[in-house]
Amino acid sequence: MKFAPTHISDFDADILVRCPQCERCAHLLAVKTETWPGRSRRLTCGHCGHCRDWDNWSSPNADWQLGFGLEVWHKTSCCGEVLWAYNADHLAHLEKYIGAELRECLPDPERGHVNQSIESRLPKWMVLGKNRSSVLEGLATLRAMLPQAGG
Ligand SMILES: [Zn+2]
Repeated sequence: MKFAPTHISDFDADILVRCPQCERCAHLLAVKTETWPGRSRRLTCGHCGHCRDWDNWSSPNADWQLGFGLEVWHKTSCCGEVLWAYNADHLAHLEKYIGAELRECLPDPERGHVNQSIESRLPKWMVLGKNRSSVLEGLATLRAMLPQAGG
């Protein structure tokens, strides 16, 4: 099975985050403005109505800590590390990738990271064969955290 190179930024238009006000699941949306295309972010929480804009949002650096005190919603400890995903699409991508029997896009151990695809940027512990079942369990934990439709 082959995977088309996918960049983490393909998934960051709608990041699920922990609401800083009520600690439930909120959305962090990319908002395009003429002055700062792609650099604004809007937090909206359907639970408590919290809403906040950032005009000077710098690109998330592919981590569960998004800056501005925000954390991703889908986060669990796994193999002594933090396993996380931005949203359902990102999670599905990770499940497909980690769950595949053959992972032809694995970073080459000799040459290192050959491109900027999401696979080449996965931490090594996630793609180690001995961790595979633990990582799949962790991904199932993240899936169970998916908000209900409309949440
Ligand atoms: Zn809230």
